[in-house]
Amino acid sequence: MLDTENLHSGKPDRGGHDDPVALASRALHFAETYNTPPVPKIYEIWYAFAAGKPEKLCQEIRKLIAANGAVSSYELDQLHREFLALSEEQRREQELAGFHLDREMHKAIGLVQRHIGSNDRFAETLKKSANAMTATANPAKLQQTVEFLLVDNGRMRAESVKLSHSLDQIRIEVRKLGAQLEKARQNEFKDPLTNVANRRYFDRALPRFIADAFATGSPLNLVMADLDHFKLVNDTFGHQVGDDVLRYFAALLQKNVKGRDIVARYGGEEFAIILPSTTSANAKLLMQQIMAQLGRANLVVSKGHNPIGKVTSTFGIAQATRSDDAETLIKRADMKLLEAKQTGRNRIASDAD
Ligand code: GH3
Ligand code: MG
Ligand code: MG
Repeated sequence: MLDTENLHSGKPDRGGHDDPVALASRALHFAETYNTPPVPKIYEIWYAFAAGKPEKLCQEIRKLIAANGAVSSYELDQLHREFLALSEEQRREQELAGFHLDREMHKAIGLVQRHIGSNDRFAETLKKSANAMTATANPAKLQQTVEFLLVDNGRMRAESVKLSHSLDQIRIEVRKLGAQLEKARQNEFKDPLTNVANRRYFDRALPRFIADAFATGSPLNLVMADLDHFKLVNDTFGHQVGDDVLRYFAALLQKNVKGRDIVARYGGEEFAIILPSTTSANAKLLMQQIMAQLGRANLVVSKGHNPIGKVTSTFGIAQATRSDDAETLIKRADMKLLEAKQTGRNRIASDAD
């Protein structure tokens, strides 16, 4: 078992910044220390932990170890699903695109090799013919050789046309596959239910936004928004309707932001909104505007037009200070959210209040 001193890991060694060999060795060390099964998924987690990224993942692991002195493979599996795994659909898309690309590349290589083969044969014919020409000065024989060469040249030309046509086809296929891969790559950062950015994207984006805000000296506000009594919506109208409400809310948030602002599904019915170059006062105004629009919405169940009743959300806002990193900023926005929940929900709490 590791002592808490070492649990500081999750950040690279001072000596071996991001050195993959050092990270791999530390990952193996964790796997050994916590006696976890030697499977790629779990190794991937330990590697991420050794590298200190994503921060949230490391934080969760440290929490588990501090609480239990160990971390089970079940917990690691859950963490992998939450922080590292591609969704089934994304994985299938990538695998499929990768498989097709591989196949098309093989086809292209085969064709080029065959063409090289034909070229060699043509060169061989030329060599033989040249020999024949020097061996005989007989005009009849010369004519015969030239005709032979013309026929072979025609064969080569036909081969070339065929090859260029096949390569064109392959180029089209490869371009299609490239587009599919690009789509899979984009989906890697999108929440499939609501179409806004996912947690993976948010976790990568926030530190960059914070660094940018510090560099430019512009204010950065982070909002955590959580739908109120959402369990009740599910329990009363079913999960499908719950999903529809999540989609509606995500779209409402997205509709109200602009420019570089980011709306991300943080998890479940909680959303994070990154507002760069936005003061606390403006962040609050924006959330009031969203709250008002949500308040005016009359959501109904599409079949039967049953009214869902008022859906409300609570918002916690925190502005990045010089001493913040992503983790502390999220924590402070979350604390404000909790405070607003405890004081009655359907309201906004900001650290600037
Ligand atoms: P509070 O006002 O304190 O936030 O109460 P709440 O009911 O919203 O919070 P709680 O954490 O008790 O319940 C959250 C619910 O959100 C439970 C969970 O089933 C639901 N939920 C999370 N993700 C999804 C989803 O993708 N679809 C649907 N339909 N429901 C979800
Ligand atoms: Mg909630
Ligand atoms: Mg919640």
